[in-house]
Amino acid sequence: MAPSQSFEVTVVGGGLGGVTAALALRQRGIRVTVLEQAPELGEVGAGIQTAPNASRVLLSLGLRPQLEAIHTEPQDQVRRRWKDGSVVALTRLGQFCKDNYNAPYWHYHRADLHRVILDACVDPDGPGPVVTLHTGTQVTGLDRSDPGRPAALTADGCRHEGDALIGADGIRSRVRDEMGADDTLLFSGEMAFRALVPGDLIAADPATRWLVDRYQSTIWYGPGRHLVHYMIRRGEYLNVVACVPCTDEVAEKWVVPSSAQELADAFPGWDDRVPAMLSKAKEDVSCFALYHRRPDPVWMDENVALLGDACHAMLPYQAQGASQAMEDAAVLAEELGAVNADGIRAALRRYVDRRARHAGMVQQASLRNKTFYHFPDGPEQRERDAKLRHFDGESDVSYDWLWSGTPLNDPDLGAFSYQFSR
Ligand SMILES: Cc1cc2nc3c(=O)[nH]c(=O)nc-3n(C[C@H](O)[C@H](O)[C@H](O)COP(=O)(O)OP(=O)(O)OC[C@H]3O[C@@H](n4cnc5c(N)ncnc54)[C@H](O)[C@@H]3O)c2cc1C
Repeated sequence: MAPSQSFEVTVVGGGLGGVTAALALRQRGIRVTVLEQAPELGEVGAGIQTAPNASRVLLSLGLRPQLEAIHTEPQDQVRRRWKDGSVVALTRLGQFCKDNYNAPYWHYHRADLHRVILDACVDPDGPGPVVTLHTGTQVTGLDRSDPGRPAALTADGCRHEGDALIGADGIRSRVRDEMGADDTLLFSGEMAFRALVPGDLIAADPATRWLVDRYQSTIWYGPGRHLVHYMIRRGEYLNVVACVPCTDEVAEKWVVPSSAQELADAFPGWDDRVPAMLSKAKEDVSCFALYHRRPDPVWMDENVALLGDACHAMLPYQAQGASQAMEDAAVLAEELGAVNADGIRAALRRYVDRRARHAGMVQQASLRNKTFYHFPDGPEQRERDAKLRHFDGESDVSYDWLWSGTPLNDPDLGAFSYQFSR
C-alpha cells in the first residue's frame, strides 16, 4: 500500500464500522480523528459472525495474529426445523471457506473484535499516523460553510474540522440528517432477543452437550420466528439471537431488558433442545427492536459521506450489517488513499459508486429472509426446505456473490490468502 499525502478525515462514530474505517484510512497514511458520543469505546455483550467477505477485509488490515487469538471457527452452517430439530440443510464452513473464498468464516465476542481493531488504530508501531480518539463527544451539527473543510460541532462546544467527514454514527445517524439525506428508516415489526448462555452450563447438560462437541452456526426456522446460535470464545458462551414479532414496548423503546424465562417462552412448542438451551441464559438478556433502512444510493454530499448502518442498516437475517460496513471501510480507504486533498470529492463518489449497489442488494436479501425464514408449515416451507437441501444461497442470493465481497483494487489483498491453503 502506498501511503497517500496526509490529509485529515473526521469519522463520527466509533462502532465497528467507524473503527475499521479509521484503521484502514490510517494505513493509507491519512490522519483520522474519531468522535464517539459514548464515554468509552466498546461493543455490546454479544457475538458476531464475519463471513469471508468481512474476514478478508480484517485480515488485509494486518490483524491476523490478533484475530487468531480471539476467534471461534464453526465447521458448518446448519439449518434446523423448529418442531423436531431435524436438519434441513448443512453448508460447510471451516476449511471449505478458506479453500474457496481465501478467507475464513469466524465468530467472535463483539467486545474482543472491537478491541483488536481499536488497539490497531492507536498502536504507535502500526503503519500510518496514530488515530486520534475523542470519547464522550456527541456530534450535534455540521458546519459546511467551507465545503472543502466540513466541521463536526459537538455538544461540548468544540469544532472538529477536516478535509472529509465520514458519518459512521449508526442507524439513527445525526450526520445523515445534517447532510439532508432522505428519511429511509423502516420498522420490521420484529425484535431480537440477544443472550449469552454460559458454555459450562451447556456442556454439563446432556440435552445441550452437542453444542460444544462440534462448533456450528445454527439457524432454526419456524412459523413467524427464527433462532440463531453459535459458540464464541471457544466455548465460553453460546451466543443466541432469537427473532420474533415485536411487542409495542420494545418497538417504542428500541431496547428493553428481558429474561431467560421470556426468551424460552417465546418459542412454545419448539423442539425440546430449544428450551433446554434458552433457559440456561443468565443475566443480560435484552430485546432489540429491528429497524432497518430502505436502500438509498445517496451516501454523500460534497466532502461528507456515510458508512455502515448510517447508510445501509439492514435486518440481521444474513449476519452482514457490520460486515458490509467493513467492506465500506476497505473501499473508502482505497479511494481516499489514492488521492490528495484536491481529489477527495471524486474519491468519495467512486466509493459510493462501488459500494451502494452491492450493499443495497444485501439489504434487500436480508429483508427477503424475513419471509423466507418464517413460512408457516405448508407448501412454501416445503419448497424452501427443498431449495436449502440443494444449497446455493438464501432468497436467491448466492453465497458466492456475498462472500466474495466487493472487488478491491489492491493487489496486496491476495498476499495472505495462500497461508490458508492446506
Ligand atoms: C441481533 C443482531 C445481530 C447481528 N449480527 C451480525 C453479525 O453476525 N454480523 C454482522 O456483520 N452484522 C451483524 N449485525 C449488524 C451489526 O451489528 C451492525 O450492522 C453494525 O454494528 C453497525 O456498525 P456501525 O459502526 O455502522 O454502527 P454502530 O455500531 O451503531 O456504531 C455507531 C456509533 O456511533 C456512535 N454515535 C451515534 N451518534 C453519534 C453522534 N451524534 N456523535 C458521536 N457518536 C455517535 C454510537 O454511540 C456508536 O458507537 C447484527 C445486528 C443485530 C441487531
